[in-house]
Amino acid sequence: MDTIFDKIIQGEIPSTMIHEDKDCVVIMDINPVIKGHCLVISRKSYPTFTQCPQEELSHLMEIAKAADTKLRQVLHCDGTNIVINNGPAAGQEVPHLHIHVIPRYTGGEKVIFPHEVYQEGEMKSLGKKLDF
Ligand code: 5GP
Repeated sequence: MDTIFDKIIQGEIPSTMIHEDKDCVVIMDINPVIKGHCLVISRKSYPTFTQCPQEELSHLMEIAKAADTKLRQVLHCDGTNIVINNGPAAGQEVPHLHIHVIPRYTGGEKVIFPHEVYQEGEMKSLGKKLDF
């Protein structure tokens, strides 16, 4: 079944598109965290980051970098959040790979993630299991 981003790519749903090439498009997010927030969307509808082949991911990151450059030039933002919500458990709502590029300004609200606290030795032993 087509995702909303497939429909945007096919022109069935209108969007403000600021870049397109053979592997991806970049559109303005309709509900921006901050004005200028845009989405780098793969043309192929990989449901998540995990399912996207490396070569295409590299291209998407290159385009996210170009979007970051453009946002800095035009909006004079001081930084960007480059975000991929990878799967529903991580807050991904549209099951079609996309990278958020969100302009940020010095003194603006910080993105807050909750934090957990490791018990004595826990971080080291978990690190051992996760080593690759
Ligand atoms: P996710 O939570 O999947 O990482 O983010 C999906 C993003 O897509 C959200 O930021 C949402 O505002 C944006 N979005 C959803 N539907 C549309 C749409 O029809 N048009 C545009 N331009 N953005 C959309």
